[in-house]
Amino acid sequence: MSTVRVADVALDPRSGGADAVYTYRVETPLTVGEAVFVPIGTRSALGIVTQIYHATEEDLGFPLASLKAILGKVEGLGLPSAVVDLARFVAEETLSPLPVALAPAMPPGVRERLLTCWSLVEPRPDHPLTPLQQEVVRVMEECGGTLLEQKGKKLSAATLRSLRLMRNKGIVRQSLRIAPFTERRKGEAMLRLTPDTDRIEAFLKKEGKRRPAQALTLMRLQGAERVQLTAAEIRALGAVTETTVKALLEAGLLVRTDDVVAAVARPPTPNAPQQLAIDAVVESIRNREFRPFLLFGVTGSGKTEVYLRAAAEALREGRQVLYLVPEIALAAQAIARLRERFGRGVAVLHSDLPPTERLQNWLRIREGEASVVIGARSALFAPLGNLGLVVVDEEHESSYKQESAPRYHAKEIARFLGRRHRCPVVLGSATPSVETFFEAELGEAEPLPQGRPTAIGAPAAVAEEPEPLLTLLTLPHRAASARLPEVFIEDLTEGYRGGKPALLCEDLQQRIEATLGRREQVILFLNRRAYAPFVICRDCGNQMQCPNCAVSLSYHRRDRKLRCHHCDYQTAPPENCPKCDGLRLAPFGVGTEKVEETVAAMFPQTRVARLDRDVARRKGALEETLAAFRSGEIGILVGTQMVAKGLDFPNVTLVGVIAADVSLNIPDFRSSERTFQLLSQVAGRAGRGQAAGSVVIQTFNPGHPSVITAQRHDYVALYEALLRERREAGYPPFQRLVNVLLSGESRTAVFSASDEVRRRLAALQPEVQLLGPVDCAVERLQNRWRRHMLLKMPAGASVAPIGDALLGYAPKGVQVVVDVDPYNLM
Ligand SMILES: [Zn+2]
Ligand SMILES: [Zn+2]
Repeated sequence: MSTVRVADVALDPRSGGADAVYTYRVETPLTVGEAVFVPIGTRSALGIVTQIYHATEEDLGFPLASLKAILGKVEGLGLPSAVVDLARFVAEETLSPLPVALAPAMPPGVRERLLTCWSLVEPRPDHPLTPLQQEVVRVMEECGGTLLEQKGKKLSAATLRSLRLMRNKGIVRQSLRIAPFTERRKGEAMLRLTPDTDRIEAFLKKEGKRRPAQALTLMRLQGAERVQLTAAEIRALGAVTETTVKALLEAGLLVRTDDVVAAVARPPTPNAPQQLAIDAVVESIRNREFRPFLLFGVTGSGKTEVYLRAAAEALREGRQVLYLVPEIALAAQAIARLRERFGRGVAVLHSDLPPTERLQNWLRIREGEASVVIGARSALFAPLGNLGLVVVDEEHESSYKQESAPRYHAKEIARFLGRRHRCPVVLGSATPSVETFFEAELGEAEPLPQGRPTAIGAPAAVAEEPEPLLTLLTLPHRAASARLPEVFIEDLTEGYRGGKPALLCEDLQQRIEATLGRREQVILFLNRRAYAPFVICRDCGNQMQCPNCAVSLSYHRRDRKLRCHHCDYQTAPPENCPKCDGLRLAPFGVGTEKVEETVAAMFPQTRVARLDRDVARRKGALEETLAAFRSGEIGILVGTQMVAKGLDFPNVTLVGVIAADVSLNIPDFRSSERTFQLLSQVAGRAGRGQAAGSVVIQTFNPGHPSVITAQRHDYVALYEALLRERREAGYPPFQRLVNVLLSGESRTAVFSASDEVRRRLAALQPEVQLLGPVDCAVERLQNRWRRHMLLKMPAGASVAPIGDALLGYAPKGVQVVVDVDPYNLM
């Protein structure tokens, strides 16, 4: 039987491709990872070659004659083969189809910029040509052997027909390429921030209040995706005039890039624990070996300096660095430090950039022009071919888990990249996840790589050699002689005994007053936005609910709306109770808006601002608020977890937690862990400068382990308590979890589908323990009924049998989602 050379191509789902991999005939030299254009029905689509092999008609299962050929390559857009391997790993681990796993790696914003290129094949095959074809060949020869087809410069239908006929005879070749980007006008000066960050800090602190436009422009430049910009671009970025740009130039805060000679500030000298950590990571970079590390250091202990030193070593070795942060919008300070150290080699991956700029960034990384890539979890899919270091900062953050397909966890992928590129992976945290710390403890006990599966995630089967366990590196002290803040717990139940409790206890009020008196700043934290989380009828007790979801509506006072935080539903607050027609509807509970209002009334001399997702929705509002807080213009910042994360404000000496209980009351086995992490993080915002800090935690659960251990900054005590709980209840790291979520508009259909899922999985018992199906904690969301099943299996067990059992099961009107190692069980 005759064979033919074929390629499997995963189509870009965004360009209309489906979830399947399609097979095409290969007629020209081709490699795995290459970007190609292929016919799909009557259209064409972009795809990535995932496999090349020889196949017979029997292998294919359809006649060779109906096999279509690849239309052409797309020059300069192929993925490194490591990225294709990565997608394959993600597909296996998350039980996703390969194109879904490959989608985040696809070059962004390409379709609009593609040009078709026709070129003559040399030497020319000996075929008789029609007169028209001879004419086309003559024109091509005059143009240097190629013809470009682009918008506004279309070829005639007859020419195209001739070209296609000659392509089929192998006389011309069709390919695609990216239209060149318009170069900036020649002679226009490029500007950048001075590499002297101390100078910028000093300006922000001393002059920021008097010159808000300049301060804002500086802050925006620190977080901008490019280092070098023209004056016009800077004006647009800061929404400022020429005068502001001139003033910044005169002050030496902006400099012409021609004036900068490899200007890199002198980095701080590491302390002894930092040096030990640096040495360990550097050794593994030099040995070109995969080694996972946990860098466990209290807030403010200088983890970033360890990352930066290790990154410098990887770059010296001619390799690339991937630096992950939980949220890029809150990473301006990390970006500024990377730029200060590594200059224009730093690329920032933002998902909200315009497509053209995203593509330019992507190409810079692919071409190796940018050797340090910083971004949120999707940066794991950047076209990096030669990694020397992967950093996952704040590894415990739940934003590292992707909550839509492919539902991967960044830590697992980071480890895969470490194995694939033979380089170290550094997970950093002050409050590591229980799973991570557990593995690091095992690693401590057995420092040599062991041949058994790790406690978390991937089974050892995917690795060619035994998977090394995490090596623990500890930074026990705050750097630069700053001390950890003193934490006070305030029992809110006492307030209730004496009547109606105040929003802020007396102690916290007095401390705020004293702090403002010393011209220092305050952060007030409450993990709940809106004015009030409920609106309740005082006559019949009716609670206003979202008509689409089984959740209560929040009251947003500023825009006088009731809103659902799960779907986009919003409505004006009704005058009367829809149930009893009573007039006594009242907001109940406390959200950030209410805290802002109360505190502003309490301290009328001080500017109070709020930072939460409602504020950050307005473009530029996040940076503006942070800039004004940094300059000291804002005295009190009220916010949700946004204020807890990664921000370093040396002048903040007091942090108040309005209610520690919000996250404790969530029915999830991780709620104690998350509460501790949040409390520690927000507490860690206090006293990062010279002055000592203090923290007041208000709570209805003063005896809760999460609260007590946060007060003592005692991570290990909480970890040990949680580990006992997890062992008894059979949760990670002792068992592996898979959540099967079913949702649909018909409740009956969801019920019968969930029963069918259970039936299909029944054969996997007893290795896999089946819990449910039961209704989800939020049983209806966006008009869909939801049920789920929780599967438990031994740590390190493969999830493949679950995928096989459910393969091809697609009930009508019901979506079945398999979430491996889930982070959200609501
Ligand atoms: Zn009522
Ligand atoms: Zn809703």
